[in-house]
Amino acid sequence: MVNKYLYLNTIGCQMNVYDSEQIAMRLAALGYQQTSSLENADLVIVNTCTIRAKAEQKAFSFLGRLARLKKKKPGLITAIGGCVAQQEGEKIFKRIPYLDLVFGTQAIDRLPSLIQMIDQKRCRIVDIEQADKPLFQEADDGIAATDQMSRFVTIMRGCDNFCSYCVVPYVRGRETSRHPDDIINEIQQYAQTGLKEVTLLGQNVNSYGKKERLCAFTELLSRVSQIEQLLRIRFTTSHPKDFDQDLINAFRTNEKLCKHIHLPVQSGSNRVLKRMNRKYTKALYLDKVAKLRDTCPDIAITSDIIVGFPGESTTDFDETLELIRTIEFDGLFAFKYSDRPNAPSADYDGKVSDQQKKDRLQILLDLQETLTRRKNQALVGTCLPILAEGFSKRQSSGNLNQPDQAVQWTGRTSTNKIVNFYHDGNPASCNDICPGQLVNVKIEKAYSHSLWGKAVEGKAAAEELKGERSYAA
Ligand code: SAM
Ligand code: SF4
Repeated sequence: MVNKYLYLNTIGCQMNVYDSEQIAMRLAALGYQQTSSLENADLVIVNTCTIRAKAEQKAFSFLGRLARLKKKKPGLITAIGGCVAQQEGEKIFKRIPYLDLVFGTQAIDRLPSLIQMIDQKRCRIVDIEQADKPLFQEADDGIAATDQMSRFVTIMRGCDNFCSYCVVPYVRGRETSRHPDDIINEIQQYAQTGLKEVTLLGQNVNSYGKKERLCAFTELLSRVSQIEQLLRIRFTTSHPKDFDQDLINAFRTNEKLCKHIHLPVQSGSNRVLKRMNRKYTKALYLDKVAKLRDTCPDIAITSDIIVGFPGESTTDFDETLELIRTIEFDGLFAFKYSDRPNAPSADYDGKVSDQQKKDRLQILLDLQETLTRRKNQALVGTCLPILAEGFSKRQSSGNLNQPDQAVQWTGRTSTNKIVNFYHDGNPASCNDICPGQLVNVKIEKAYSHSLWGKAVEGKAAAEELKGERSYAA
């Protein structure tokens, strides 16, 4: 097999991260090995996102950089995939003459043959066909072995909800669920090569399998939890209108399900929620959060908010701030509203100025930072099981193999908080931490985006923890 290099630039959400892994796996069969050097690449792919205008601009600015490279290396194959490709199709060729391939969100399975064709015939191809081919066809040679301990697995694609601001139903198509056997099979294969944590992906996991009459999402969760080697299960995203008691109960009954939910609320104003076509009210959202906290008191809740949706008044925005104060989210992803092609809200009146959006975003982020810090501060002194991911950034440039050096690790709590931690290299404690291992960490400091602590294990740890609150995984 020829050895060639692939440079893959992934922009956007976890769904795109998963798609990029699928792209890399399929191209590995053609002899493409991933590289982090753009100059060494024989094939450059940018996997794009068009959810917000900013992500799209990022993709085009990256493509702009390729012009010089292509001049220096005419044999280089350049490709754009993902949502921007799906949305813009052939128009991209006119805009970027040095681009060889535009492939849509459902063309990943066909990618190896498309690349081969370009390589042999030096032609330019657009493939944005939707849904006439199986969406979740597995790679012919199965799943390549990797030693990743945490990864995303897509369980469904597309969306049927048509929120008025959102482009997903147009670029990712209608909602389709994968068969549970295929999902389990994929996760099992990863688990055999070291997977410890899986995040199941879908735009609205609550409706998983309903259209196809497969199985309920909670049943899928229960099947995934039976995979022995797996320690943790996460999922995203749940739509508040469909978030139900069954799923709430799973946080109590399914021991591997992490105590974290991402439940995007988007706005705290009923008027705005209606214009967004979200199909729930502030009261319904609050009710679901109350039920969730009743069943699982230590659950962490994060959310998405859009500021400056067309027609959002200062009163509407104040209602959103009020909701944030009432719920006290553990974290927020907040976005300035942007018009997207095909999304109905692009034609709504009452557009909010960019300055106002910026100001509102800042107010909201400042409020959330205070809340997150307070929540993190409350964890100081507790001992939490952390799934070790690897060395933290500060340490990774140093010498990682010196046993007597204090080593700084990074990982996450069940509630999805990042914890950087150290151990002092004492062989009697835990100098043999490896990625994918659950480590008890005593939290010593809290910051706005992370926690800091010390690994405590074995006998010494038990002593140290006497009289402390200890959380179970
Ligand atoms: N399916 C999820 C849901 O229903 O909440 C979210 C999917 S979307 C990929 C991720 C987030 O992007 C949304 O929750 C929303 O906050 C944000 N978003 C989507 N369209 C947007 C737009 N036109 N402008 C700003 N933010 C947007
Ligand atoms: Fe977009 Fe709404 Fe579907 Fe989420 S639920 S992907 S925001 S249309």
